[in-house]
Amino acid sequence: MPTLSSALDPRSVIVLAGVMGLLMSLVMFSMRRSYPSSIRGLREWTLAPLMCFGSTVLFAMRGVLPDVLTIPLANMVLFQGCITYYAGSQLFLGHERNTRGWSIVTLVLGAVLFWYSQFQPDYTMRLAVFTVTISVLFAFHAQLYLRHRLSHLGMRVMTGLLLLQATVAGLRFVTVLFGAAGSDLLQPSWLQVVYIVMYSFTALLMSIAGVLMATDRVRIEFEFLASHDPLTGVLNRRALFAQGEKAFARSRRGEAPMALLMLDADHFKRINDAFGHQTGDEVLRELAQRLQEPLPAAARLGRYGGEEFLAVLPGLAPDAAHALAERLREGLARPFEAGSPLAAAGIDRLTVSIGMAAFQGPGDTLDAMLARADAALYRAKAAGRNRVEVA
Ligand code: GH3
Ligand code: MG
Ligand code: MG
Repeated sequence: MPTLSSALDPRSVIVLAGVMGLLMSLVMFSMRRSYPSSIRGLREWTLAPLMCFGSTVLFAMRGVLPDVLTIPLANMVLFQGCITYYAGSQLFLGHERNTRGWSIVTLVLGAVLFWYSQFQPDYTMRLAVFTVTISVLFAFHAQLYLRHRLSHLGMRVMTGLLLLQATVAGLRFVTVLFGAAGSDLLQPSWLQVVYIVMYSFTALLMSIAGVLMATDRVRIEFEFLASHDPLTGVLNRRALFAQGEKAFARSRRGEAPMALLMLDADHFKRINDAFGHQTGDEVLRELAQRLQEPLPAAARLGRYGGEEFLAVLPGLAPDAAHALAERLREGLARPFEAGSPLAAAGIDRLTVSIGMAAFQGPGDTLDAMLARADAALYRAKAAGRNRVEVA
């Protein structure tokens, strides 16, 4: 009966995993070319598995190439590869690359391994030093993710993997302390095989997690672009209507009231005429921001058209919706801050007119509500602007 350790020859495992790492590097490379440049870190995640592959080639050449290449250098390349994954994560998560300290650790590690392979050959010491160092690196890497919200599958996989790597290296270190190092990297003991398999597959597993994370990120970006207005950042018409339908369906089931506010900037054309379209755009952005701020969490604001906005207010009874509309109107009428670009352009304030429509019971429809809000808005305009009218 072949045992696990005799069936899995460490050298073959290392080479096989190295080749898979190389393939993952190709996957990352093509992703980097086709993904938006806003997704950072893909360059590092392309380089890292290449470095890991390089290290596996060196490790596998043990006995063929001089020890100085297959021991200190191989470990340094592997370690630097893991640092490069870390750098990719830093960039991906929106930080600056900060791995210089770790590169110094690589040099020190190389020097120590050189000493314990050339001058005082000692596999136990080499293994102890390497496992403890890489365990700490993985723990730092995992901790970077743990500081973020792990809201998506890719991030959870990555964090789990990093914690697992840190643990396996930590455990291997403990076994070394208890005198179970074995005599050589390629010695086929089951513990050594687990350790080798774990590290050989680093490039493959980390790259898979990286692909998952980058894919999550692209999906989130595209979903945002597909549902938001590029100028103001509030919902676009399509997403707004979807939210309106959802709130309306709840009201139809008798679960909660709801209301709509149709908002239109007063004399907006004058701003464009007097200050140009770019300033007009800036004012629209400011307008959307000012409208968004006082809204309750469940409310949804979207751009209905040009300088018209629609707020869907789930759960708000007519009185509450009316009070909110008044607060929005008053908030808008407040002059722009003295130092703001808009004030500097000579625009002291911008008012809005608001038409409100509340859900009226089982016979109501969303279209009818929109029509009533529109008619109320029209009356607000006719009555002199900067006011709220209720349908
Ligand atoms: P009222 O008080 O009656 O609403 O007057 P108004 O000038 O706001 O209304 P009108 O509908 O006549 O003009 C709306 C203007 O909004 C016309 C259009 O040029 C401008 N507008 C629409 N969309 C944009 C945009 O995305 N950027 C800029 N800068 N202007 C826009
Ligand atoms: Mg207008
Ligand atoms: Mg208008």
